[in-house]
Amino acid sequence: MVKHIIPETLITALTFLNEGTYQIMAGGTDLMIQKRSTAGTLPHFERDVLYLANLEELRYIRRENGQIHIGAMTTLEEIIDHPDVPELLKEVIREMGSPAIRHVGTLAGNIGNASPAGDSLVVLYLLDAQILLSCLQGNRTLPVEQVITGVRKTVMKPNELIHEIIIPEVKFDQIKWVKVGGRQADAISKVSFAGAYRVVDHRVAELRLAFGAIAITVIRSRELEKQFVNRTISELIIDLPAILKSDDQLISPIYDQRSNKIYRREVALNIARDFIEKIKE
Ligand SMILES: Cc1cc2nc3c(=O)[nH]c(=O)nc-3n(C[C@H](O)[C@H](O)[C@H](O)COP(=O)(O)OP(=O)(O)OC[C@H]3O[C@@H](n4cnc5c(N)ncnc54)[C@H](O)[C@@H]3O)c2cc1C
Repeated sequence: MVKHIIPETLITALTFLNEGTYQIMAGGTDLMIQKRSTAGTLPHFERDVLYLANLEELRYIRRENGQIHIGAMTTLEEIIDHPDVPELLKEVIREMGSPAIRHVGTLAGNIGNASPAGDSLVVLYLLDAQILLSCLQGNRTLPVEQVITGVRKTVMKPNELIHEIIIPEVKFDQIKWVKVGGRQADAISKVSFAGAYRVVDHRVAELRLAFGAIAITVIRSRELEKQFVNRTISELIIDLPAILKSDDQLISPIYDQRSNKIYRREVALNIARDFIEKIKE
């Protein structure tokens, strides 16, 4: 039978992780589903469970030096309620699950789950979020893109946990998120998109595009983004089809029971095109 460890302090949690192999659990809203063999059965865990939700040390939201720091045990609902959290992230979280899910589920859990359809991820990629990972020996901070390497795959070592999510405060002229799913809320994305831009002196100063649920991880192509910079809006509209076509590799979608590849590619490109065509000077 597996044991359930419920540490009250971060140092105790890190010590357990250093000395054994544990299944980390935060809100459990992903894990309790994944660990069932069929609906109606009890979840089956292969490893002892380290339940972190009682770690008050990891429940905080702080604004420091132009960055928002979100402790890993802050619930999704607490994030929505906080005045310093970027509006786009709140908008996305409001559509994640139901209030009951958001009262226990966490942003760290959405990252740790490493699903390409994780709704918060597309915004975290767009905003260049960094993830602070901790273990008994120390901390390291990595861009979210380097933490997630595939479907349910991360670079986290068995003795590490997500300590906090760091989001730089950046101003854009326009920032947008689109989720295509069976329903708007409480549904897994078939395709999701987040875009942001700044225009200076009638030219694109910055354009960011992130795509979710189309590949094995969320995708941001900085090479593609660079091609838009310094163009005037009219140049952009003329060159857009060629630019989007130039990055065929970017949108090379996955197939699963929710959608096929052709649908995903068409929808992702249409949403991106629509966003770019509406850029205003
Ligand atoms: C009915 C329902 C609706 C849902 N709707 C959505 C939706 O619309 N959009 C969406 O994106 N998701 C949705 N989800 C999935 C889920 O709620 C989210 O992914 C949530 O963010 C998971 O957080 P959690 O704290 O419950 O994670 P958990 O289930 O506790 O953990 C998930 C994974 O992250 C790891 N993990 C958690 N915390 C840490 C940490 N601090 N350090 C290291 N690893 C950690 C765990 O080991 C596990 O692998 C839904 C789930 C349900 C049941």
